[in-house]
Amino acid sequence: MKLSRGMFLGLWWLTSLSAQTLDWCKSQPRPAYGQLERVKIPDPWFEVYKIRPGVLAIYEPHQFEEVISYLIIGTQKALLFDTGMGISNIKAVVDGLTGLPVSVVNSHTHNDHVGDNWRFTDVYGMPTNFTRTNAKGSTADAQAELAPGQICGSLPPGFDAKSYRTRAFHISQWLHDGDKINLGDRTLEVISTPGHTPDSIALLDEPNGLLFTGDTFYLGPIYLYRPETDLDAYVVSITRLAELAPRLKLLLPAHNVPVAEPSYLPRVLDAIQQVRHGQAKSVSREEKQEYMFQGFSFLLSR
Ligand SMILES: [Zn+2]
Repeated sequence: MKLSRGMFLGLWWLTSLSAQTLDWCKSQPRPAYGQLERVKIPDPWFEVYKIRPGVLAIYEPHQFEEVISYLIIGTQKALLFDTGMGISNIKAVVDGLTGLPVSVVNSHTHNDHVGDNWRFTDVYGMPTNFTRTNAKGSTADAQAELAPGQICGSLPPGFDAKSYRTRAFHISQWLHDGDKINLGDRTLEVISTPGHTPDSIALLDEPNGLLFTGDTFYLGPIYLYRPETDLDAYVVSITRLAELAPRLKLLLPAHNVPVAEPSYLPRVLDAIQQVRHGQAKSVSREEKQEYMFQGFSFLLSR
């Protein structure tokens, strides 16, 4: 079973699988959402929140990843940062929110962030082998998202669980560290943040003090145990992001809650250095070690 990012700082590792599932589902809605401005949309699979003018979080609360994609709307075009699980149709949601042309950029190419890439024609990617492999699509990761306990509420009507897979997608343009994507009145800078995966990026909207952190940082257990994870690279990437913190007003992460204080970044750097120097306490959890800090944790392989 995969580990819910929604459960942390509790005694859940002592509980049974069914109780864990119950806890994950029961903890919704997360209190942070009560402070956010909700935008009504017809598809109940998604919830949309207006975080800033022109910045919408598209949240999938009914699947345990609680993934969050972002629609960033400029005067000339819009950018969709991740396309979610591919369980319902995020393109239909986006088309209902903007009439502008939409380019897709992925925070990285794990299945839960590229699920609806196939529905879009303008998809940017990082030039890594990891990206190229994932663009071919896959079945196992997608099917695991439907395992018992992973769905809270109901799947969309007409969704076919048996044939659910991450569909192949076409990358129309390669991105590099430092690239700027111009949306008209707003420009987003690509910051390469390898670590969680080789193709992880963050997006910086410097004039507005916004940093979209992908899976490099979110409030919850941060996954650093998969074979594609590089811990040394992660430390370098967090160092870079932590240096930006004084100029930032808000972090917009890719799971759980779409708002976090930039002051987390130097704390994450300090925490991962403690882990790397053997100075942090951890608990065993299934095949992994979890290192707990205030508001977040790291899940490493043993
Ligand atoms: Zn990921």
